[in-house]
Amino acid sequence: MNRVYGAKMQGRKLTGVLFLLIAGLLFMGKRVDAQGAFTIESRIDGYQSVLLQWESDREDYIYQIQRAHKKTGPFETLTSISGQTGVVSSYDHDVVLGDTYYYKVVKVTGNQTAEESQVIKMKILLPAPVNVNIVKLEEEQIKLSWNKVEGATGYIIYRSNNKEKGFKKIGETAKAKFTDKNVKGGALYYRVKAVKKKRKAVSGNPSDTVSVYLKPCVPVVMGSYEKNKIKITWKKSEGADTYYVYKKNSKGTYKKLGTTNKLYFTDKKVKKGNYYEYKVTAAYSREGITRKSKKSRACKVLADVIDPDKKMIALTFDDGPGRYTEDIVNCLKKNNGKATFFVLGCNVDSYKNALKAADKIGCQIGNHSYNHKILTKLSKKEIREQISQTDTKVKNVIGKTPDLVRTPGGAISDTVNSTVGKPIILWSIDTLDWKTRSKDKTIKAVMRDIKDGDIVLMHDIYEPTKNAACFLIPKLKQEGYQLVTVGELAKYRGYALKKGTVYRRLRRK
Ligand code: ZN
Repeated sequence: MNRVYGAKMQGRKLTGVLFLLIAGLLFMGKRVDAQGAFTIESRIDGYQSVLLQWESDREDYIYQIQRAHKKTGPFETLTSISGQTGVVSSYDHDVVLGDTYYYKVVKVTGNQTAEESQVIKMKILLPAPVNVNIVKLEEEQIKLSWNKVEGATGYIIYRSNNKEKGFKKIGETAKAKFTDKNVKGGALYYRVKAVKKKRKAVSGNPSDTVSVYLKPCVPVVMGSYEKNKIKITWKKSEGADTYYVYKKNSKGTYKKLGTTNKLYFTDKKVKKGNYYEYKVTAAYSREGITRKSKKSRACKVLADVIDPDKKMIALTFDDGPGRYTEDIVNCLKKNNGKATFFVLGCNVDSYKNALKAADKIGCQIGNHSYNHKILTKLSKKEIREQISQTDTKVKNVIGKTPDLVRTPGGAISDTVNSTVGKPIILWSIDTLDWKTRSKDKTIKAVMRDIKDGDIVLMHDIYEPTKNAACFLIPKLKQEGYQLVTVGELAKYRGYALKKGTVYRRLRRK
């Protein structure tokens, strides 16, 4: 193995040396050429005006400035210059905006020996606007102004978050000023081009870049507790790439906890049962300038899974488990939430994995009868069978028997209540998802009325409900709701759930 590797290496080295030799020869050839060449430079200098410049080392040279409409000629001599050393400048004002010209300079040295410069192509553009300035900085507005460009009928304004690239057109104006009404935060860079619209549209060269360094937006911070640590998260703050995280100490002052360029920070130094408070600052540095946002509002987090001082609700899903149950469970898991699934015994065997997944993340499994018979129409014996068959099915899969019952259709009677042998959980928010089969209507039904202690009724067997749930779960969390099981809601709101009693909501007593 070693020998093969060595041989390969040698081959590679040889090729490398050969390549360098050839490259060196080519490079030397080019240099020799460049030393002997007579070169000129050109640029647009003012309105309809081309400036040519070159270096002259002798006074007795005559320079003929020649121009053509095609690269190959014919070239006509515009003017001749002599008796100069140093940098020689020659203007051509006799050009048409939008047209293209080819220039060269012929050097005549005493007795008819001539040397020619390279041929330079020039498109006659409007000159770049100069003196581009930020005249006013207001909240969410930046006002720019610049000197008028002769011949321009308007200007195009470009903006980027990068000084070198990515400039996009943000507006057009006929005046030599512009207000950018859509700025949030961060480093902003502007360039302006002049344009002439009449007859031939001609756009000029871009101006120099002007820079504005706004403070980044103040981040909105959320926190949650999970497995002995607190995770603080925030959304990307406009213009920021660095975040400073502060934690309130026992004296009540915020001390820097860390710096990150991610959108989260994990605090492992927490004791279960204690409250902690955090603030975050967004920042960035560009061209040696650092800008920091104000500190965010304090984010208070209890180092426990459920904070009794915060709002909480119970999402419940009936008639499953079904083909959408696992998606809902995954969404809950991602958002650190829980729900209660009131299942039908007849569906359990087909969706064992969904049931296991729900149980594993701490969701509660309730009993919704065996095959959705309206219990008020059944005998006591039949009611008992509907409940016990489902209890057995669930126990076989997750090893636990459901503690709660939701009667099909919410149908209850004294007989039913006393026969089911468990607390009966109905609901305070009926989404009517089974009827509307609409994601939007289901979302609206929840968001319109939701309050602490609510029990929300949905069905995990419809796709629109799944989509609504996957929207609602992060949304409710964002609004400060803890998504808990019915059992947890009862516990933290001070209810000892009793057999045969009907509960529709579990508000703070
Ligand atoms: Zn049902």
